[in-house]
Amino acid sequence: MRSIVQVLAAAVFAATAVARPFAAGPKVVTTTEDLAAIVREVGGDRVSVESLARGYQDPHWVEAKPSFILKLNTANLLVAVGRELEIGWLPALITQSRNTRIQPGAPGYLDASGNVKILEIPPGQITRAMGDVHPSGNPHYWLDPDNGRRIAQAIRDKLGELAPGDRAYFAQRYEDFDRRLAEAQKRWDAAMAPFKGAKIVTYHRSWPNFADRFGLNIIGYVEPKPGIPPSTQHTVDLIAEMKRQNVKVILVEPYFDKKTPNAIARDTGAVVLDMLPSVGGVAQASDYIKLFDYDVDLLVATLKKVSGK
Ligand SMILES: [Zn+2]
Repeated sequence: MRSIVQVLAAAVFAATAVARPFAAGPKVVTTTEDLAAIVREVGGDRVSVESLARGYQDPHWVEAKPSFILKLNTANLLVAVGRELEIGWLPALITQSRNTRIQPGAPGYLDASGNVKILEIPPGQITRAMGDVHPSGNPHYWLDPDNGRRIAQAIRDKLGELAPGDRAYFAQRYEDFDRRLAEAQKRWDAAMAPFKGAKIVTYHRSWPNFADRFGLNIIGYVEPKPGIPPSTQHTVDLIAEMKRQNVKVILVEPYFDKKTPNAIARDTGAVVLDMLPSVGGVAQASDYIKLFDYDVDLLVATLKKVSGK
């Protein structure tokens, strides 16, 4: 019979054998849950990953917690959306982390926007009067699945650089994600096809890449300018335009006040839709593909209803 010490030791080794790949691989911190979800797809159990922002939070304005600094302090890799999405909260945290590995420009800092399709890059001079305009283009680019694939490629390459021994593993995980994403895209494209050119209004400019991908026509925004709360005059103009163009759908991100969208809906007969811009916005949208499943299902059901198709 084995002694209690042997039994305990065996149990500890068994636990270590299970836990070791998590502890040994690169420790990745991402700014958003979308990026964390893609790291998980590619990194599998050879990395650990945590997101700073939650999927139901406005990624432009995330309240910095002391725990974020601790997470960043020990990270091997920080993955950010970039294009100034996190400019209001991330730079100070990176400095305070005192972690030289993850400073912008260091090997442990990955701006996920390097190789993606970016829309709305403003021409000419940016002025304050334009509101909270992103001079390097719209940062909500992850809402096009083709960009999700490009983000996954950048993550695959970066993880391979940090953990060269696992390069083949990351490459195989990427291939698998790519295949599942391509299958899902066929499904989403087919579901959205009858609604090509459908006119919608969105609260914030979160959806240009999504609209571009699925052929939706965004005719206006509840915000008069990005980051500027609704004003009476803008709302009156928007209502008139929605009536003129017979627009029946308003997409609202979960972190915005619904008062104005609901008032617009009452006046125009439109439907207010809680579309999720990020993984984790609700429990069901638990990974990158499930996020699009959720949004496409919701949007298609609503467009069917309002168009009678
Ligand atoms: Zn934005």
